[in-house]
Amino acid sequence: MASPPRIHILPTDTAKRIAAGEVIERPASVLRELLDNALDAGATAIEAEIEGGGIASLRVTDNGCGMCAEDLALAVLPHATSKIATLDDLLTARTLGFRGEALASVAAVARLEILSAEADGTPHRLVSFPDRPAVVEPSAGRPGTTVRIMGLFDSYPARKLFLKRPASESAHCRQVFVDKALAFSAVSFRLLSDGRIAIFLPPSDPAGRVAALYAPDSFRGLVTEAVLSGPGFGGRAVLGDPALARPDRRHTQVFVNGRRVPEYALLTALDWAYSSVLPGGEHPFAFLFLDVDPALVDFNIHPAKREVRFRDIESMRRAVLKSIQGALGDRARLSPYRDPPAEPTLWEVREGIPNPGTRHDERKSWARIAELASCVREARGTELPGACGESGGAVPPDWPRECSAGFRFLGAALGVFLVYEEDGALWLLDQHAAHERLLFEGLRSGPPIVQELLVPLAVEPESDEEEAWLISSSGALRQAGYLLEREGPRWLLTGMPAGLRGGDSGAILELLRARPAPDALLLEAHAATACRAAVKDGDILDRAAALDLIALSRELPEPRCPHGRPVRLRFGKDELYRLVKRLV
Ligand code: ADP
Ligand code: MG
Repeated sequence: MASPPRIHILPTDTAKRIAAGEVIERPASVLRELLDNALDAGATAIEAEIEGGGIASLRVTDNGCGMCAEDLALAVLPHATSKIATLDDLLTARTLGFRGEALASVAAVARLEILSAEADGTPHRLVSFPDRPAVVEPSAGRPGTTVRIMGLFDSYPARKLFLKRPASESAHCRQVFVDKALAFSAVSFRLLSDGRIAIFLPPSDPAGRVAALYAPDSFRGLVTEAVLSGPGFGGRAVLGDPALARPDRRHTQVFVNGRRVPEYALLTALDWAYSSVLPGGEHPFAFLFLDVDPALVDFNIHPAKREVRFRDIESMRRAVLKSIQGALGDRARLSPYRDPPAEPTLWEVREGIPNPGTRHDERKSWARIAELASCVREARGTELPGACGESGGAVPPDWPRECSAGFRFLGAALGVFLVYEEDGALWLLDQHAAHERLLFEGLRSGPPIVQELLVPLAVEPESDEEEAWLISSSGALRQAGYLLEREGPRWLLTGMPAGLRGGDSGAILELLRARPAPDALLLEAHAATACRAAVKDGDILDRAAALDLIALSRELPEPRCPHGRPVRLRFGKDELYRLVKRLV
């Protein structure tokens, strides 16, 4: 018994108001659309198979509702969808798709075969080639749908040229697959790549799914789940032990209504929630799965729905922060996902240390200053004055630690000053300003060392002026080590100067807000980088790092930070004597 068709073509005026643009850029974008369709069809088991990175062929099979023959014929036409009828439906639609464009776009650039059957209907097969009408015929098959795509961009050599090697396209596919599997933990997912099972995930709860994908075995017991709720939204957070934190945001992820989104406000809410148990610069193992009333979020701003706009992001951010802080603060209420280990958990161990950040900060700051020392040394080579002894000759290989002989380090004070005595005077060195100035010198002494970001960061212009500034400045920013690529309506930061923490888009955002003029841009960019990368007030430096910082900053030609503040203060003996009314 065939049921009446469900798919219709959206009227032109509705179609026109739906975010337009190319959604098929590479195999991973096809995979994302097909997985979305399978999930929208209510599938409980999904299998994807890719060959040659998905360029040669890509298949998704689901056990969802299937399509009748009429729907099958309509499905590949532009603006054909069963998910919305009018634009107002977007306020209530909970489906992943709504544009009715994916299958049509795929059919335009690849060979497409769809096998589909409703639970009690006749199976049909659709075959389509680019620029030819599709053919639908009865066939054998099981309820559900299989979509197979072959020869992506074969008739578009120029677009095929932009694809990367199969291994790299395959990695993109895998990421898309994992993102969907995380958002739909109750569904079973299987990925085959070139005939081998790459990922198999039985149905689970969110914590189980996250742990299966990302937590090493010994930490699975330390991944817990918290239930969240607030006005217009509910959800869950999967929270890992602080020991699972990383210096990048690879394991800090936000999902909204089944889609992974780079929503900065929520990512930083996760950082904040953990701030009392993690040292600065570390990002937690935390996955946020929000289910938001569709009337309060807008995905109709990016054709591939990679971005979301919240009606009131601030109250959402506050609510998320509060719920997670509550959950972290009262961990007794959280039930561990699997058997907790017998020894004290890392939560407890960390809490035993009065200042959980200290040891980390020491190590990090030292590493950064050591790097800085070598980069300044390289930049200035043998021009460094022979400050150690009066040899005046070649710089000793382990300069500058030996130079501490020239001054006497007295200690750190008030969280920001390194105090030392030299030439009968007392000196206070502002550790942040000094490090900032040294990094600045290193940056402007040569071409930038760039670190490529594994996960690019979205940079969102907030006004037309900012967008225009990005367009005119991206070349100059590249020279400063910031690699920006435009992708549809947004910009992606794909690389940043080495020394900044991956995931820290603070410097580029500061520049974007300040929009320096072209002649000042390079120096401003170096200054912003140096400021973000430098040790902060309150960072505790170990002795060796402090000695290095003092020694290096004594050699600065201009002992001011890039914004003009003095880096150090000198109190001469006679000056201090006068203050205590002592006779010199
Ligand atoms: P959209 O998902 O935005 O509606 P698509 O072009 O992706 O647009 O799909 C068009 C229509 O085809 C869908 O609305 C749905 O009715 C049908 N369809 C696509 N894939 C499947 C599937 N795997 N199972 C059942 N129906 C599907
Ligand atoms: Mg779709």
